[in-house]
Amino acid sequence: MNCRHCGSALRCDFLDLGFAPPSNAYLTAEDLSKPELYFPLRLKVCEECWLVQTEDYASAESLFSADYAYFSSASKGWLAHAARYVETITRRLGLDRKSMVVEIASNDGYLLKNFVAAGIPCLGIEPTASTAEAAEALGIPVRREFFGEALGKALAEEGKSADLILGNNVYAHVPDINDFTRGMKAALKPGGTITLEFPHVMRLIEENQFDTVYHEHFSYLSLYTARKIFGSAGLRVFDVEELPTHGGSLRVYGCHADDPRETTDAVTTLLAEEERRGLRTSALYAQFQARAEQVKNDALAFLLEAKREGKTVAAYGAAAKGNTLLNFAGVKPDLLPFVCDAAAAKQNKFMPGSHIPILHPDTIVERRPDYVMILPWNIAAEVRQQLASLAEQGTRFVTAVPRLQIA
Ligand SMILES: [Zn+2]
Repeated sequence: MNCRHCGSALRCDFLDLGFAPPSNAYLTAEDLSKPELYFPLRLKVCEECWLVQTEDYASAESLFSADYAYFSSASKGWLAHAARYVETITRRLGLDRKSMVVEIASNDGYLLKNFVAAGIPCLGIEPTASTAEAAEALGIPVRREFFGEALGKALAEEGKSADLILGNNVYAHVPDINDFTRGMKAALKPGGTITLEFPHVMRLIEENQFDTVYHEHFSYLSLYTARKIFGSAGLRVFDVEELPTHGGSLRVYGCHADDPRETTDAVTTLLAEEERRGLRTSALYAQFQARAEQVKNDALAFLLEAKREGKTVAAYGAAAKGNTLLNFAGVKPDLLPFVCDAAAAKQNKFMPGSHIPILHPDTIVERRPDYVMILPWNIAAEVRQQLASLAEQGTRFVTAVPRLQIA
């Protein structure tokens, strides 16, 4: 296999999580008596451009099915993050009623609704029918397509070139990252700005976040690599921010290569930091597998020990990262009888692979387990707050990543 960005042969292994079903392929009771599709879940790193990437296995269309269940608005913390972003970027770029904002992967309108409220014209791009419908119900125009060069050019021809193109947690999810980047170039007005947020591979490595690896997530990016990809499409990264979201993300700011805005010191500083931490050496990537296995083994040992002691355990958050951990560890309902999630679309379904039932959050309060394992550790503080009444009654909270913690 060759690198998705630069075409070099991929020789360096990064992570092998065995085989797993697509992490968002939640199952109905009926599905449980049918065969389930598993794909290899392996990552390699390119030693030319340092793009960490999944091995090829399946087309994007088969993974993002019409009933894809992730609704961004389910997380209050994420909604607040989106509202803050809209306020800041509107001020920084001076956006107004004559501007055009395009969000790629606009999901259920969790972010664009803030632009609608401010009277700033916007357009969402979202191929998933259920979330696109939710956004349209909020008055947000949505194109139900995958974004790439063809759509970027079409938008420009239709007079929908953007002053701001934004994409949160989509850049790492596209199979053809070059085509996607050329699409942004095509749809960006002269003087326009791109902002993309994606998990920072430097944090993934340092914080053992192997569970953020899943099939739908094709690329794991450093600033160095993102800059290279932007550059190859005639764009330039001129600023960057480090964000605490999703265990440590980058927000990169892009513009046309010939834009007069100067590249900030933040870019130079972070590039140097990545180099200092070894992100351009094979050695750093080669040692990650052993660390992922350690985290997995500790989580499994905890569940086995709790079972032996007759303690009850439940999980909170039927997130994709939970599926990666549980399937890598081979956990089934005998060790983890149920998981609760606030998203109605997931309730009364089953986790792919592990077949653990997903129930309404009230259940966890009623049953008062001895331990609650919080699978989406990135929102652990929010979950602990929601379940404060359980803690008062003696329930302890467990997170597996970056290392097993029982609080
Ligand atoms: Zn490469």
